[in-house]
Amino acid sequence: MDKLVLATKNEGKRIEMEAALAPLGVEVISLASLGSIAEPVEDATTFAGNAQKKGRFYAQRTKLPCIADDSGIEVEALGGAPGVYSARYAGHHGDDAANNAKLCAELRARGLRESPADYRCAMVFADPEGTEHLTEGRSDGKVVLTPRGTGGFGYDPYFIPEEYPDRHMAELTLEEKQAISHRGRALSQMLEWLEAYYGSRNRK
Ligand code: IMP
Repeated sequence: MDKLVLATKNEGKRIEMEAALAPLGVEVISLASLGSIAEPVEDATTFAGNAQKKGRFYAQRTKLPCIADDSGIEVEALGGAPGVYSARYAGHHGDDAANNAKLCAELRARGLRESPADYRCAMVFADPEGTEHLTEGRSDGKVVLTPRGTGGFGYDPYFIPEEYPDRHMAELTLEEKQAISHRGRALSQMLEWLEAYYGSRNRK
């Protein structure tokens, strides 16, 4: 069976990516199941640049086809911050509670209760032979000071997507979030491309 590594250590991302890739019919492998692998330095200034670094790095280390994503939230009132620094906005990588507290503090410091915002996702497929493919997705909405919901991850309790003005992203089901989210949009384009990639490999 063909294999595809989900090159992420973020559990929220893994759940969303695994669900979207199920129809592909390949063996989806989590990074965690491959033992301890060093992490690449995410020092690019764009989501696409970081996603490409992660995809290439893990494809070389695992010797398997990989998909990696780099994503984050851009808040208009904060000049687009935290952007590519979303995971470590408050200083520690992946500390969602601290990141959300900082986001609210920054809005309050400007006398604001909300701001337009958008989530961005760049997704890169890379295989050990050097094949690469990039897709991107975006989800528009706003951030507010009061959290709601327990689903999703990261900034989702504070984000209201424009498609559901009465619900926070963390109140959507996995399927509802997938249909409108930055990652869901990048994934659906990636899925089409992956079907062709695995199809042509199997015809060789
Ligand atoms: P990365 O792992 O460097 O791509 O950082 C992604 C960070 O962006 C996460 O740790 C979250 O803080 C934020 N983020 C990305 N996608 C989402 C999402 O779908 N919901 C909420 N937060 C997200």
